[in-house]
Amino acid sequence: MRCSCCQKELIRNLTLRELFCSASLRCYHCEEQFTKIDHATACVGCGRKNSVKLCRDCRKWQQTSGFVLNNKSLYQYDEGFRKWIEAYKFTGDYRLRGAFATELKQALRMYRGYLICPLPLSKERFKQRGFNQVSACLALTKVPFEMLLQRKELSPQSEKTREERLLMAQPFKLNVESEKIRNQRVLLIDDVYTTGRTLFHGAELLYKNGAETVKSLTFAR
Ligand SMILES: [Zn+2]
Ligand SMILES: [Zn+2]
Repeated sequence: MRCSCCQKELIRNLTLRELFCSASLRCYHCEEQFTKIDHATACVGCGRKNSVKLCRDCRKWQQTSGFVLNNKSLYQYDEGFRKWIEAYKFTGDYRLRGAFATELKQALRMYRGYLICPLPLSKERFKQRGFNQVSACLALTKVPFEMLLQRKELSPQSEKTREERLLMAQPFKLNVESEKIRNQRVLLIDDVYTTGRTLFHGAELLYKNGAETVKSLTFAR
């Protein structure tokens, strides 16, 4: 059996439990690679570590958008996570998708009854990468999910600087009939929570179409 992260052969003896949930097993080295965020002491709005009160960014979101996302993030965006996401997402090593499937599956248990929706890539990005890096991780958990959103097609010159992207108008449209969303609870999933802007765009669109609650979960923050 191989490490789901670095793909090296695992040499330790496996416990029974590990054998039965073999979707995600990491070697000792990779086990140390990710640093969990303690949700008990994280910002309830964005999942930022060590922020017992709603953080300043979230208070700003609350003013401008009228809601917070109750985002939770599994790991800190540190050197270990950066290495993983570079190899997986940017180099495109699809085999690394199972790095934390067990932890992801466990986190999803808190969202029973929610429609689970990974953020979509643009068609172009999908073609380049060959896979949606969020859906690929989710698929291993066997938890059903659905692409409720799709990216609007943009002209190439609209891919601009970060500032411009932050100001960019709604990048999503619904990929399903709005009845599917109405009065539903939705969990948006993305790989990294940076400014929250993209997730807020997704949530705003879902609320506009009658969603009851929208929360988010990301792999890192
Ligand atoms: Zn490993
Ligand atoms: Zn916050």
